Order: sequence, then structure tokens, then C-alpha cells
Amino acid sequence: MIPRHSAKTIEQMRPVGSFVGATLSELQQHATAGVTLLELDAHAHQRIREAGAESCYIDYHPSFGASPFGKVLCTSVNDAALHGLPYDYTLKDGDLLSLDFAVTLNGWVADSALTLVVGGNPTPSDTRLIDTCEKALHAGIQQARAGHRLGDISHAIGEVSRAAGYVVNTDFGGHGVGRTMHEDPSIPNDGEAARGPKLKAGMVFAIEPWLMETTADVYTDSDGWTLKSIDGSRSAHVEHTVVVTEGEPLVLTQRA
Ligand code: MG
Repeated sequence: MIPRHSAKTIEQMRPVGSFVGATLSELQQHATAGVTLLELDAHAHQRIREAGAESCYIDYHPSFGASPFGKVLCTSVNDAALHGLPYDYTLKDGDLLSLDFAVTLNGWVADSALTLVVGGNPTPSDTRLIDTCEKALHAGIQQARAGHRLGDISHAIGEVSRAAGYVVNTDFGGHGVGRTMHEDPSIPNDGEAARGPKLKAGMVFAIEPWLMETTADVYTDSDGWTLKSIDGSRSAHVEHTVVVTEGEPLVLTQRA
């Protein structure tokens, strides 16, 4: 059963979406050479405190995690794809960094991610990887309309990714968002169009394509959390929290 939220609830979700979007924009500005991943995490934590929000990650302890996450931000660098546990690593120019951030504010969750190249001078292959993720995200969001089916979102993401020559991992993908970070449904990053539950206005989804350059397989780093590409290739990941509407999908985590 996919939860649906009233127009009033959607209004109550806007502040957390704005907060997550604004904080990610700020972190993007701060992610320069010489800054550590722990400093980025501390910065995000400070913003959470100021806003009176709660991290969705800090106590997060699913079956696949070695222990509670303990940080408020996922920082995945280069061959790290998802769930990057911040550690004492100093960023340098050319690092490919994904930041994934989810909090609860006034009882509602928003979840979003972006990928950047430290120093702002990406290689053509990093540019292509990031651009493809962003195009896939946009294509997925465009399917989040009442009357479409869940498989339309998955298919749109998968099609953009495959057309660019990437292979898609369907083990980790998007999800419903509401009172908690992970709600029904699960939204794989590839699938068949016109299949699955029919979308209805008020459903809220985190849509999150992620790609690795030359593989779809990951392994878990010795930190117990960070998922890395099996062949060392680089990874990008982008995400927005989106409301299904009768018309244009509503992106709650829009960045400036
Ligand atoms: Mg996320």
C-alpha cells in the first residue's frame, strides 16, 4: 500500500524539502580542496541543530549496516557509490563526491543527493556520468504523475542510463518518503514501463538514480557501510523528493 498525503500534508512537507535543498547547496559550496568529509558532516549537523531538525541517518541501523551510521551525511568519494560513511579524508581537486542528506523536520522527511567534482574541473567521463544521472533523474521525475504507473519511473531512469551505455544496479534505488525515510514503494532504477501500481496524487517518492562508470556491482568497504564499485570505477548519485500530482510533478528538495 503506497501512502497518499493530503494537500495540507504536502504543505507541511515543504519546509523540510527546502531545508534539505538549501543545506545541500551550502555543502556543495563548502566541498573544496582541503576540506575533510568530517568537516562537511559537522557543518550539516550544525544546520540540523539550528533548524531543530533530526537526522534520518545518525541512528540508522538496517540489516545491511554494521552498526548505527553515526553521521548525518553520506559522503561517497570516487569509487564509493552509496552510503559513504564520512571519515578523516581531505578532499582534493578532481575528487568525484556525492552527498546524500535526509532529515525529519516537523515530523516529515525529505531526502536528496547531489554529485560534484571538487575544484569544478571535471574530466569528460565524470561530466558524462553526472549528466546521465541528472538526465535519468529528470526523466524519472517527469513520470511522477497521477495515472502513470510506478514502472514508468523505473523504466525512464533505466532507459536514459542504458542509452548512455551504463549498466544499472537495481538492488538499491528510490523509495517512498513520509514520516520515515524508507516507505513503500521501492523504486528500482530500471524496470518495465506501464507495470506496477498506478500513481495517485499525493504519493511522495525519493527518486535516486546512481551509476558507476563500468560496472553495476558493488562491495561493502571495511567501514561496514560504504558501497564501492567492484572494479574501482567512479560513481555518481543524484536524488530528489518528489510529489506525484495531476500535473507537473512537485520537487520538494529543489536547490537554488
Ligand atoms: Mg538519499
